[in-house]
Amino acid sequence: MKEMKDMGFETKCVHGAYKAESGEPQNLPIVQSTTYRYYNAPDVAALFDLDSATPFYARLGSPTVDAFEQKMALLESGTAGMAASSGQAANMIALLNICEAGDHVLSGTNIYGGTYNLFNVTLRRLGIDVEFFDQDMSLEEILKLKKPNTKALFGETLGNPALSILDIEKFAKAANEMGVPLIVDNTLATPALCRPIEFGAHIVTHSTTKFADGHGTSVGGCVIEGGNFDWNVKDEEGNLRYPGMAAPDESYHGLNFYEKFGQAAFCTRLKTVMIRDLGCTMSPMNAYLTHQGLQTLDVRMERHVKNAEAVAKFLKNHPMVDWIIYPGLEGDKYYDLAKKYMPKGASAVMSFCVKGGREAGEKFLEKLELCSVVVHVGDIHTSVLHPASTTHRQLSEEAQKAAGIDPGLIRLSVGLENAEDIIADLDQALNKVK
Ligand SMILES: *Cc1c(COP(=O)(O)O)cnc(C)c1O
Repeated sequence: MKEMKDMGFETKCVHGAYKAESGEPQNLPIVQSTTYRYYNAPDVAALFDLDSATPFYARLGSPTVDAFEQKMALLESGTAGMAASSGQAANMIALLNICEAGDHVLSGTNIYGGTYNLFNVTLRRLGIDVEFFDQDMSLEEILKLKKPNTKALFGETLGNPALSILDIEKFAKAANEMGVPLIVDNTLATPALCRPIEFGAHIVTHSTTKFADGHGTSVGGCVIEGGNFDWNVKDEEGNLRYPGMAAPDESYHGLNFYEKFGQAAFCTRLKTVMIRDLGCTMSPMNAYLTHQGLQTLDVRMERHVKNAEAVAKFLKNHPMVDWIIYPGLEGDKYYDLAKKYMPKGASAVMSFCVKGGREAGEKFLEKLELCSVVVHVGDIHTSVLHPASTTHRQLSEEAQKAAGIDPGLIRLSVGLENAEDIIADLDQALNKVK
């Protein structure tokens, strides 16, 4: 038999990370215990010295969460994974693991609104300067943005909600030349459609709340390490650029994470410093439910893509639709990059504009019968949102336009229903807007 890491993606989804031995439960067990018993003090001391990695207190790991992390790492072709309580927490700890006050981070502009706020408001208040730039700039232009205190490069595989495709190889080249890791949020693509580490990314993050869970049950996040970054890299003055990773850590008796944990150093530090101190742990129940979702990730994404392609073609030709953005559609600005990085399909989220502005958008939502009006994407249920009358309703029409929100803009996440039924519902609602 091949090793699990050499098996097909479908097999990893079903069998990866957790394996039942004779007489054990076939399904990943939910271990709902905050604490773990030991017989003596030396056994507990070994845990605190990081010489042993068995569970002892559930903020710092538990068997269900560990299995979920291992499955995420396997699916993303990474060397280690670390779960977090949400996608927000995952992106936060991925950056705080290597950045502190006075540091600089470069991020593509086309990122999720929550991440933008985290970077632009909260990290800034902590003294971390996140600079945003047009991710379609050339490699040479990106390299010019490097500062002596730059610590990371960040982007989203498939930007939410811009639906741009990140040129991961270009970003990885830039990161390698700068001597900083490339962190890629792979939430909307999922490892079923794109594995950024295989294109040179060093760290991958996820909101597992979306397609990974897929059934709308659990808020969660995960960080995956590629094991392909040299944390001993020096800055321009010859000092270690990442002393937290590659210099002695006083809170662990002078332990050097990179020396001791090698290709799992980033995730080990996430767990034993970030999660230890910030406490954004995933619960065993959520790890179980999200793991349940991962088992069917490959088949779900295949159907999500098939339905989304049919819906996008229908919308493109509908007389009530002004325009549509879906990178899987021929003629889309990002079609070629989508073909390169997501050859099995460009996921299932799209934006389109109903003719008639804000009123038309609102009316369209009201007339839907099968599709759900929700603030969510990546669900088995087809999900629809009208930003102008909901998430961005406080803004004036002009401010909405400046934020890239057309009054008639609809964001659609295509679900797993019958494609003709989804199309029929969209069609009847569009025709009632006229
Ligand atoms: C939803 C989302 C997040 C935030 O995740 P939560 O689980 O809601 O905290 C981060 N990045 C992307 C791309 C997202 O879609």
